[in-house]
Amino acid sequence: MDLATTFPADSLTNLRRNLRRWYRKHGRHLPWRAASDAYRVWISEIMLQQTTVTAVIPYYERFLSRFPDVHSLADAPEQDVLRLWEGLGYYSRARNIHKTARRINSERDGVFPEDVNSLMSLPGIGRYTAGAIASFAFDRSAPIVEANTLRLYCRLLGYEGDPRSTAGQRLLWEFAERLIPRRQPGDFNQALMDLGATVCTPTEPQCQTCPLRSCCHAFAQGRQHEIPRLANKIAMTEVTEASVAIRKRGAYLLRQRGDDERWAGMWDFPRFEIDGDVSASTMQRLTDDVRKLTGIQLCNPRTLKSIKHTVTRYHITLRCLLADYDSGRLHRNGTPLKWVRPSQFDDYALSVTARKFARALGAVSKPE
Ligand code: SF4
Repeated sequence: MDLATTFPADSLTNLRRNLRRWYRKHGRHLPWRAASDAYRVWISEIMLQQTTVTAVIPYYERFLSRFPDVHSLADAPEQDVLRLWEGLGYYSRARNIHKTARRINSERDGVFPEDVNSLMSLPGIGRYTAGAIASFAFDRSAPIVEANTLRLYCRLLGYEGDPRSTAGQRLLWEFAERLIPRRQPGDFNQALMDLGATVCTPTEPQCQTCPLRSCCHAFAQGRQHEIPRLANKIAMTEVTEASVAIRKRGAYLLRQRGDDERWAGMWDFPRFEIDGDVSASTMQRLTDDVRKLTGIQLCNPRTLKSIKHTVTRYHITLRCLLADYDSGRLHRNGTPLKWVRPSQFDDYALSVTARKFARALGAVSKPE
């Protein structure tokens, strides 16, 4: 597709003018837009990856009140950051945020870089996030392509190819570069995102009230419902796991998940994949696995409850087992292990299912 032919200079001028006019009246009021501060933009953009605005707002507000600037975030233990992130998922985002804060604090005295390439050299900051920080916080003419603008660009161009393919990505970033103006590029990018989120929506685009319909190829061809081409649905995998809460004098054994595991850095009850129901032979295997992993011999294992949970491409059924400590000492050379009382569970960042399990244990544990 030749962009100069598909979207000539006069169409670009119209688009910019109409979009700015629309944004002045209809732009969204979001908490992170109150100040054009790189730290706030960065935190909000990382939280918004794979997560809706509505879900992010309470997390963002709690995070900012606990860590109001990059120094306070850099000084905090990683566990405190993960604890505040608990429930948002994709925990590598929180760990990367913490690493980046430490680098900005130690290498740049707390000052964010302003250009896209320097921003992209920091952990967890990709091309889109770098463009968002550079344009929103520093008013640099940096292009952006994220879920809302990707859909909008595809429709404006009438692009029928796969927008996630290499060729599709190249075209859309090139288009974003052509679009971005020198004047107030940050507001312009936010206007594009807002239009994509509120007017050019995935299933019901409101073309009749859209300020860009006069230059939209999909609308001109009546194909706004067919574009962009949807990616093939991800096949979900059914997984059954067992999590074992071992009780010793009113405390339970928690294990911090390793760097190569799902939910790395979060705490959990020892967890293992199993075939299905918890049969007698499965109980025996779990007893052996717990001993190998932790050094603890358990006794009297019994099922407490089951929890269903969906994460990325997995439907997980978690069998929650309760068991008693029999003998043994904790391994000291693997991932960290700790005996924790239910009253202290809130001090630990737990996976979503581990938190549900912990609440159930709190209910069955008798006060001492
Ligand atoms: S006219 Fe319709 S398809 Fe085109 S940008 Fe506007 S809402 Fe989207």
